[in-house]
Amino acid sequence: MRALVWFRCDLRTRDNTALAEASSAADDGVIGVFTICPDQWREHDWGAMKVNFLLRNLRELSESLASINIPLKIVTTPRFAGVPDALDTLARECECDALYFNREYEVNEQRRDERVEAVFRKAGRKVYPLHDKTHFPPGELRTQQGGWYTVFSPLKRSWREAFKAIPEGEGCKRVRRAPSARPDTGVKPDKVPEKVEGFDPEADRPDLWKAGEDHARDRLRAFIDARIDDYKDKRDFPGVNATSTLSPYLALGVISPRQCVEAARAANNGQIDSGSKGVVHWIDELVWREFYQHILTGFPRVSMGSAFKREYERVTWDDDEEMFEAWKEGRTGFPIVDAAMRQLNQTGWMHNRLRMIAASFLTKDLFLDWRRGERYFMNRLVDADLGSNNGGWQWSASTGTDAQPYFRIFNPTAQSERFDPEGDFIRRFVPELKGLDCKQIHAPHERARHLFAKLDYLEPIVDHKKARERAIKALESVKP
Ligand SMILES: Cc1cc2nc3c(=O)[nH]c(=O)nc-3n(C[C@H](O)[C@H](O)[C@H](O)COP(=O)(O)OP(=O)(O)OC[C@H]3O[C@@H](n4cnc5c(N)ncnc54)[C@H](O)[C@@H]3O)c2cc1C
Repeated sequence: MRALVWFRCDLRTRDNTALAEASSAADDGVIGVFTICPDQWREHDWGAMKVNFLLRNLRELSESLASINIPLKIVTTPRFAGVPDALDTLARECECDALYFNREYEVNEQRRDERVEAVFRKAGRKVYPLHDKTHFPPGELRTQQGGWYTVFSPLKRSWREAFKAIPEGEGCKRVRRAPSARPDTGVKPDKVPEKVEGFDPEADRPDLWKAGEDHARDRLRAFIDARIDDYKDKRDFPGVNATSTLSPYLALGVISPRQCVEAARAANNGQIDSGSKGVVHWIDELVWREFYQHILTGFPRVSMGSAFKREYERVTWDDDEEMFEAWKEGRTGFPIVDAAMRQLNQTGWMHNRLRMIAASFLTKDLFLDWRRGERYFMNRLVDADLGSNNGGWQWSASTGTDAQPYFRIFNPTAQSERFDPEGDFIRRFVPELKGLDCKQIHAPHERARHLFAKLDYLEPIVDHKKARERAIKALESVKP
């Protein structure tokens, strides 16, 4: 049997369920394939940072696969609709009898996969859709009543129990090795393109986001060796290098969640819920990622632009284009918000605390629709991931599952004083303010009034106190 392995957001050879299963079953070789769908990607708001990072990882993957005699083919078709026929043709040309892939849980991706499966089965080929993206398939962990979890903490408890029930010593059930060399099929790999039409090749930061699974493993190792124990205490401070910065690698599957959890647990005497506070908290964050995949699957409306809490569909958001542009460009006059947005625009990444502050500012202070912010983030983030992005935005807008209550609204100045007390992070991204001291820098229009004319900085575009009252009133009014 010869297998076709379809790579999607699992761009690695180690601990890749579909690749491992195909490799052990196929005695006549394995072919890899990746599908590039530029129009569909644009419709899904993918941006150039993500696409260019993806291409670089694809090149690394292609080389690793070639070293074990697995050629990586590249198929380009504008939209998902073209994928079934394109893969069917490839399978025929390369004489593959079976298709293996790891499931994706977004609605359009699931529909695409169903169509591919139907075409392959019709042609008499076997299809093996496998689970790989999270530790447990979405929906496998259920409430006592058999329902889907909609609150994080009980899901986390259930996740921990299920994780502990995986028998000790069966490391291979958790992390799989890369396959050894496969029989040579004589099929040649395709060249991975340098760019994808419609995505600016210049929007790339290889200096910050090196590609490849070896690099992702080094990044994980460096975090665990030097920073994980302090993670709980330092993770909220954007000026401190305290988090793993593995999100772009997890989003494209350059590293697996199992590799992350296993490495953290190994550094904590095998424990996931006691011992190092940092390790326990970091694993909890990985479970948040899994929680949002679970929500995406159980409540598909969230991946189709709807609020998780339906009553919030009745909110009439403002529609001020100038305010939106100012937020996007980091010109709001709130230094912490501006520093956050400039970090996103320059690096393709934003610290989690800042994502919450920037999202709260857009939805509560500017009272603009969370979907606009969600789209902008999706388009700019190198780690863009529908589940986590939608989850984070709906949390901030109070429209989501287990979200920030609508009446608890971040004060951007207070957040700034608390989480960037010296103002170092602000100075890095808002150089106009670098001459201010650590008191002035959080609210220059009030505290450095005498210097303001010389600063080349902006007055705040909104009065936080008034905006807060208005948001609470408006959000309260739609409650059942
Ligand atoms: C408005 C908003 C939008 C977001 N959009 C995305 C997104 O598109 N892609 C994305 O991967 N994350 C998103 N997040 C979650 C979080 O901000 C990032 O995962 C985190 O900042 C990545 O940094 P890190 O890798 O250093 O994380 P670490 O703190 O080292 O955490 C380890 C991993 O756990 C996961 N994780 C951590 N925090 C969260 C969280 N709150 N929700 C879900 N998973 C989490 C990530 O995979 C992360 O890489 C968003 C959060 C908010 C509030």
